[in-house]
Order: sequence, then structure tokens, then C-alpha cells
Amino acid sequence: MDIMTKSWAQTRINEDEIEKYLTRGKSFIDEERMDAALCFTKIPDKRIILDILQKSLDVETLTLEETALLMRVTDSYLLEKMKETALAVKKKVYDNRIVTFAPLYLSNACVNDCVYCGFRCSNIKTQRKTLTLDEVTEETKVLAGQIGHKRLIVVYGEHPDNDVHYMADTIRTIYDVRVKARVGYGQIRRVNVNAAPLCVDDLKILGHAGIGTYQVFQETYHHPTYQSLHPKNTIKANYLWRLYAMHRALEAGIDDVGIGALFGLYDWRYEVLGLVAHNIELEKKFGIGAHTISFPRLEPAENVPFTHQSKHKVSDEEFKKIMMVLRLAVPHAGMIITSRETPELKRASIELGITQTDASTKIGLGAYSDGSMTQEGRRQQFMLGDTRSLDEVIQEFTRLGHITSFCTAGYRCNRTGKCIMDLLRSGKEGKFCKLNAVLTFREWVDDFGSAKTQELAKGLLEKEINEIRNTAPNSYPHFMRYYERISRGERDLYF
Ligand code: SAM
Ligand code: SF4
Repeated sequence: MDIMTKSWAQTRINEDEIEKYLTRGKSFIDEERMDAALCFTKIPDKRIILDILQKSLDVETLTLEETALLMRVTDSYLLEKMKETALAVKKKVYDNRIVTFAPLYLSNACVNDCVYCGFRCSNIKTQRKTLTLDEVTEETKVLAGQIGHKRLIVVYGEHPDNDVHYMADTIRTIYDVRVKARVGYGQIRRVNVNAAPLCVDDLKILGHAGIGTYQVFQETYHHPTYQSLHPKNTIKANYLWRLYAMHRALEAGIDDVGIGALFGLYDWRYEVLGLVAHNIELEKKFGIGAHTISFPRLEPAENVPFTHQSKHKVSDEEFKKIMMVLRLAVPHAGMIITSRETPELKRASIELGITQTDASTKIGLGAYSDGSMTQEGRRQQFMLGDTRSLDEVIQEFTRLGHITSFCTAGYRCNRTGKCIMDLLRSGKEGKFCKLNAVLTFREWVDDFGSAKTQELAKGLLEKEINEIRNTAPNSYPHFMRYYERISRGERDLYF
């Protein structure tokens, strides 16, 4: 690492922006309490579990002890009840909607050396690349103009080449792209960000660039494991700087924040409790819980031996339990499954309350516009389990009766943060969401759907419109006026 990069890295962490959030010098991760909740071995009483499920159904966040009890259930009747309730909670909060997005990797330059990541600085086999703004435009043209995505999650390493000014420039560049489509036009309307923890001033710059959700995964909430996986003298070695990234984001005015853990680094049950504790802390301190929860599983990566050696790899069955328990423990949160997982697992996840997934995914840098780049090719962080196109994924959802929503109205109408949390909990957000889901789905089908998907979509749209007529008679005439304008080629009308 050259001297300039080293001195840049040394100025990233502002200790004052950690200490101010601690309580008597301690973080909200109460290791003793979490260990005690997990060590309790008594078989949970049926009545107690059913009461906890009722709490989830009432869209109330569960405590650590309640979450730990759910993770311990082995009784087949209760497991079935948990599964049913997870789906019922998802339906109550999010109805039959599912949101799709694409990840866009913009720079894999990184000063950190996380032992599990293909982009770690000591991985000499990784070709480093930071996209130019012209290249960002080319990638966006494919995503918005050919595939039809409306939401992206942009991903960066941590390096002076991809600092906050680069992030803001790339985000603005993405929003500026507008491409003619079959009937209307393609455009990215929400850019979410997955990046290193930033200080409050940098987060304000990111906020002004118009980001949607700011995501930082804690990787592991288990402090000793965290220290063993992130070499000393790297920025990422600072557990607390990362743990309080969302506090700083909320303070900077970014009020949709996404938390996550990388499953496979430590005992999955500890990570689930860590995520629940994180959400509870945000609710307590800011009145705003996690907007989304992510639970990526560790995947093999080129020249990263740790990904094959980890003792804590999570099986498919355990992974399903993780999704189910998180849906029950944090009922209001959006839950994201990524294309690290196979189509079969993604299908199963829908029944467990997932609300978002990516599709047509490519994670090589520049891979959307460079058709010749293969998965095994260059500059890729890890291997994907699902490489299906957005059209194929939407076709499957449509067949299963789920409507794909491209709605991005929330943050453009200031329905974010506490406002959206309250609406979700009360079930009122669903009223706007249903209308916007139908409008945006119709846009996508007309602009990008294959003939087969268009055919299947007709029935689903008819059913949804009938439902709006019956359940929201006051909004129906206004909605139909918008719907007809969209059918004639107008775009981006929303409630
Ligand atoms: N550099 C930023 C950071 O570390 O926060 C953001 C980008 S990083 C590429 C995004 C996420 O990828 C990490 O937070 C980590 O959870 C995940 N990741 C890293 N290595 C992985 C692997 N081998 N398999 C699956 N996910 C991985
Ligand atoms: Fe860099 Fe993020 Fe990968 Fe760590 S996980 S090496 S910080 S890109």
C-alpha cells in the first residue's frame, strides 16, 4: 500500500463518533445476555411459543430471549406453526408483493484484508478495477434499458479510489441515465448502497446524492471471531466503528438503514440474536428499526481458502430456520435473499417471508456491459447460485401469484424511516404499495416482459385490480386513471 493510501486509511475512524453511542463504555451487544439466552436448554413450552407467535402476528419486535426460544423449537407441530405464522406476518405487512433489484459492483479496490473476501487486499489474483463514470453509464444502460431494473444496490470496496465523492458521483451518474424501452423508458429510480462504514459528514454527502437504503453488514456480531477475521491495522478491524455505522447514518439523516450478518463465520444462532439486538437498539435510540435485514451465506471465492475451511458453514435447513426466525422476530423489516442462493432455496424462502431478491445478477466489475465475462472470469467477489434473468424470475413469481413491485415511491414521497415503520406496523403502507405495485408491474411488463410473461401477467393484473376495486373503492377511480395513462405509455406515476 502506498503512503498516500495508508495515511488516507488512518484518517477514516473518528473515535468520538463511536464513544458517544456507548452506554458506560459498553456497546448494545450484551454478550452475557446473548450467551445465557442460547445456553438455556429446557424444551420450550408449547403455550409460550404460541404466545410469541401471536406477538409476531401483532407486528411486535421479539426480545432476544423470545427469539432464542424460537430457534430451539424442534417439535414438528410448532415448527409448522412457526412457518405458517412467518408467511402470515409477511402477508400482513407486505401482502403478496416482492421487490427485485440488481447489485452493481463499481469498485473492488480495497485496503482491508477480510479473510473471507475475494477482494481482500492480499489477494493478488484479483484484478482491481474502479469503473469510470462512462463505464457506470454503460452498465446502467444495460440494467435500466435492457433488463428493466428500477432499483440497484451499488457495492464498493474501501479505498481512496472509491471514497465518498466517487460514490456520490457514481450515484448521480446512475440517476441521469434514461433509455428508450419498448413502450416507455428505462431508468433507475432507487440506488441503495452497500459500502464501508462512513463518518457522519461523509454520510451527509451520500444522503445528498439521493441514496435509498444504506447497508452495512456487521459480518459477525461475535467480537472474538470478528477480531480473528479482520487483521489488525486495517480499518475493518475496528468492530465498534462498524457496529455504529447505522447510528451515524441515522444521525446524518439517512433513515432507511439495512443491517446484515455474513452467515458461516460463527454460530448462526449468535448472529440471529446479534441482528435482533441491533434492530432493537435502533428502534430504542431512533424510533426507526432496520429497514432491511440481509443474511448472505459465505460462498467460495477464488484464492480464498477460508471459504472452504470455515467450521460454521450453515446448511440449507439451518438457513431456512434463520429466515423464518428473523421474519418472526423483526416483523416489520424487509428481508433480502440474494443470488448467492440457488433458485430452489429462493423459492422456499418466499414461503418464509422474504420480501426482496436480486435477478439477472452479475457481480464481475463491468460484467453487465461486457457480455463475454464469465462467472469464472475476472474481478468477481464470490460465485453465484442463481444466474436466472429478471424475466425468468418474474415469470416464476407471477405463476406463484406474487406481484413484482418496482415501486420506489416511498423515499420520493418522504415515506421513509419512522413514517414507513409506523405505516408498515399499522398495515396502512400496504394501501399505497398495492396501487404502486400494480402500476409499476404493468410498466415493466409492457416495456421489458417476454411474450410468455406478458401472457401470465394479464391474469395477475386483473386479479389485483379487482382486489383494489373491492378493498379500496375510494382510491379506485384515481388509480384507474393512472393505470390507463400507464397503459398508453406514460411512466412513473405513483401514489
Ligand atoms: N467493502 C464493503 C464492506 O465490507 O462493508 C462493502 C462491500 S462488500 C463487497 C459486501 C459484503 O459482501 C460484505 O459485507 C460481506 O458480508 C459480503 N461478502 C464478503 N465475502 C463474501 C463471500 N466469500 N461470500 C459471500 N459474501 C461475502
Ligand atoms: Fe474489502 Fe468489503 Fe471485501 Fe472486506 S468485505 S475485503 S472491506 S470489499
